[in-house]
Amino acid sequence: MSEREHVQPSVQPVRDKWQMVIGDDHRGASSGEWIDVVDPGLGEPFAQVPQASDRDVDDAVRAARASFDDLRWRGWSADRRSQVLWRIAELIEQNAAELAELETRNQGMPLAFAKAHVFPGIARTFRYYAGAVERIEGRAVELRSPGTRGFHAYTRREPVGVAGVIVPWNGPLLSLSWKLAPALAAGCSTVVKPAEETPLTAIRLAEICLEAGVPPGVVNVVTGVGHVTGAAIAAHLDVDKVSFTGSTEVGRSLLQAAQGNLKKLTLELGGKSPVVVFEDADLSSAIPGAAAAIFSNAGQICTAGSRLLVHESVIDEVVEGLARAADAVRLGYRTDEQAQIGPLISHRQRERVSGYVEQGIRDGAEVVTGGTAPAREGFFYRPTVVKGVDPTMSLVREEIFGPVVAVMPFADESQAVAMANDTDYGLAGSVWTADIDRAHRVAAQIRAGRIGVNVHASPDVAMPTGGFKQSGWGRELGPDGLDPYLETKSVYVAVDA
Ligand code: NAD
Repeated sequence: MSEREHVQPSVQPVRDKWQMVIGDDHRGASSGEWIDVVDPGLGEPFAQVPQASDRDVDDAVRAARASFDDLRWRGWSADRRSQVLWRIAELIEQNAAELAELETRNQGMPLAFAKAHVFPGIARTFRYYAGAVERIEGRAVELRSPGTRGFHAYTRREPVGVAGVIVPWNGPLLSLSWKLAPALAAGCSTVVKPAEETPLTAIRLAEICLEAGVPPGVVNVVTGVGHVTGAAIAAHLDVDKVSFTGSTEVGRSLLQAAQGNLKKLTLELGGKSPVVVFEDADLSSAIPGAAAAIFSNAGQICTAGSRLLVHESVIDEVVEGLARAADAVRLGYRTDEQAQIGPLISHRQRERVSGYVEQGIRDGAEVVTGGTAPAREGFFYRPTVVKGVDPTMSLVREEIFGPVVAVMPFADESQAVAMANDTDYGLAGSVWTADIDRAHRVAAQIRAGRIGVNVHASPDVAMPTGGFKQSGWGRELGPDGLDPYLETKSVYVAVDA
């Protein structure tokens, strides 16, 4: 494995102390508390953000509510809102260098990866929902009940209200765009809470929204730790909806927190996605495909292919090829142009990942390659392939959220499907085979929200994404991604005949 020994300095200065965006105010926390923002490639703090309290969250919700009630955004014509969303996309592109610099310094992913695979999707999401604004419409309905002849009846689609938007650290700006773009398209006002590890681009995006013409109060950003700031949003009685991406554990806690005013919830949670390789698969694409499925973004992708199920007749060849692919992955600091993956997000996350591998070894699993952290600064962890696992091990059952794949053999198609579905999760999966009938059959039988055939697919903005089972509620992206931000109202008009 090749790794950079020396780290280049940041190419742009960053502001040391960042402020939250609440209404038209840029401010710190009322308590005066700050939290450190760490560069995971160096393991050192480089900025600070306010630690928002309940009181700050309340201010942000009030600002959002005021902007919702006085129609300053939702009252605009579809055309005008659409133009502003389009403008946000343009400003994201114009500021792409700065945003990519911030995002990668904060999250650790290589700049080249961010520019090629992450940033284009962010602007595209705002453009997609700029178009979707134009298609928010109700229906005229013929009533069926006796005595309603002559009524004029129709439905309206209206914004759900103030939306709390809580996002994780693994793809901070991308996951925020999947929520903020449809929320704004629908006419909602928002209170955004980025992950405490990666708050900076959310603040910059709020500034960009203001610059693009979103009225103050419609996009507010509060920063702070989840159990304080996030929990305050989840429990706030004047927040109508929460859209959350994060762990299944926190998702479950939001169900409790949302009880007070029966908030609507969209939950994009964890995964333990299967990659199923049949004996007739083209291994020259299946092996690199399986490697990319788990090692991209250092495995910190909710749809990562962390369980590799391989037909027993080709498993040795696949394990060998995958181990070679793992060893060839270049880890590096974000400014290393050859780097394919960066560090894990934090020391804690690396401890978590290595803890799973060590537990697997104690349970009898065999590490084929990886399983250690390289000797360098930052929170790097080597791409890791584990075999000899059984389906009861925590390594196989729980989401690790790191570059660790567990490989298991199967004997036939029905066993492959049963193993693929032997999980509490249901976010994604992929099937690798040359048999088109089998591809469709297995794709239909795996209980997950996204299936790739001969590809472990990344999401496209036009296709819905989300989870079956304990991977979540609702869908993001595509036309379905707008629905959670809209209510349907039925209007009956008695017309004198
Ligand atoms: P996390 O659940 O700990 O945190 C996610 C967000 O929730 C953060 O902003 C955090 O501050 C906030 N939060 C934490 N506790 C909270 C509470 N009690 N109330 C309200 N908010 C709270 O998740 P994480 O470890 O930061 O992120 C990784 C997880 O996200 C993984 O499990 C991964 O699968 C999941 N994820 C899912 C998807 C998807 O689309 N399904 C996408 C990306 C990540």
